[in-house]
Amino acid sequence: MKYDYMIVGAGFSGAVMAERLATQMNKKILIVEKRNHVGGNAYDEFDEHGILIHKYGPHIFHTNDKNVFDYLSKFTEWIPYEHKVLANYEGEFYPIPINRITINKLYEKNFKSDIEVENYYESVRQKRNPILNSEDIIVSQVGYDLFDNFFRNYTKKQWDMEPKDLSPSVCGRIPIRTNDDCRYFSDKYQFMPKEGYTKMFEGILKHKNIEVILNTDYKSILSDVKFDKMIYTGPIDYFFDYMHGELPYRSIRFEFENQKKEFIQSAAVVNYVDFAELFTRVTEYKYLNGQTSDCSTISKEYAILEGEPYYPIPTNQNRKNSLLYKREIKRLKNITFCGRLAEYQYYNMDQVVANTIKVFNKSVMKK
Ligand code: FAD
Ligand code: UDP
Repeated sequence: MKYDYMIVGAGFSGAVMAERLATQMNKKILIVEKRNHVGGNAYDEFDEHGILIHKYGPHIFHTNDKNVFDYLSKFTEWIPYEHKVLANYEGEFYPIPINRITINKLYEKNFKSDIEVENYYESVRQKRNPILNSEDIIVSQVGYDLFDNFFRNYTKKQWDMEPKDLSPSVCGRIPIRTNDDCRYFSDKYQFMPKEGYTKMFEGILKHKNIEVILNTDYKSILSDVKFDKMIYTGPIDYFFDYMHGELPYRSIRFEFENQKKEFIQSAAVVNYVDFAELFTRVTEYKYLNGQTSDCSTISKEYAILEGEPYYPIPTNQNRKNSLLYKREIKRLKNITFCGRLAEYQYYNMDQVVANTIKVFNKSVMKK
């Protein structure tokens, strides 16, 4: 059997690319996935207590991109879901992103309007120009104290780095609010796939031209499989046998725990923003899909250096090192790199879908 394409990885980038190639170009595809399931980091499954959990941590779908939402809607129904997160700071709970309720509680204020909160931020923010890092971006909006309480230690736990050593895009992901909006995201479309992500992936991959093999590192079968072209969505440094050194990634150890209680905590996610606990955040999965049960499952996340590569680490140096690899790509024919690991970019799911469709339209389809 000869395939038109070998696709490495069955996460969003690999699955969406396979779907496009099969349905738009009638190509025959082999997807090679080293894990024992499709879905990449968005994979979910029912645990032994019947709770739908996300094996690689909470995945909340949110986007402003109607095209991405419409595209994925072909493969799943949705349930509306607005994600809420609390920060646990010195044993007290505060809404995060920082908003009016956070400020009133932390500083014992009684601000009633956005303008009062805006004036407060104005009185404490520091001018930082240019904005070069994750400390600058927060301190320039809300001053040092709020940064110190809610960002500095959480970031150190998550990245093992000071925010001033990380790109502004890291802490800049979190909005700062003057109103009492407690939603984590501000996007227009905020939903969860009704039957879960794994079911959605099964829909994306359901095509007679798409074959998936699991539990296989693509390098172990390269010489046995015939194909014309490759789409690679794994780590870029691994592809090139680390010829320019290993790129750093942040990994996570997940500790799952089920308790015989209807609910364990009062929000879907609690971020532990000081060092009283070593874990960064705790997710209670029942909140994410409205499941009912007399027990509940949580996961605690411990950031670690070694292990599965989950997060590219956005620093100037790492970006430069990743460019060495990106230059190598130009020498290759018939191989396209896309996705969070192959592009070494801290993408959300919707960005991966949008980018994969763009790469398909702009380059793969024309080659
Ligand atoms: P991946 O999902 O990593 O898929 C790549 C696949 O390639 C993997 O399945 C891997 O096993 C496989 N692979 C790698 N190397 C090989 C090899 N040598 N041979 C064969 N297969 C290989 N995004 C959001 O939008 N909302 C969220 O709430 C959110 N939460 C997140 C929470 C966590 C803890 C993490 C880590 C990420 C989160 N994301 C979230 C980001 C989201 O996971 C990614 O944007 C998305 O999954 C990336 O898809 P991908 O296909 O590029 O990569
Ligand atoms: N962050 C923080 N405190 C918080 C939430 C986020 O310091 O309460 C910082 C931290 O550096 C984190 C980044 O902002 O890694 C992005 O947060 P997000 O929740 O988007 O991270 P992800 O879901 O991608 O792990």
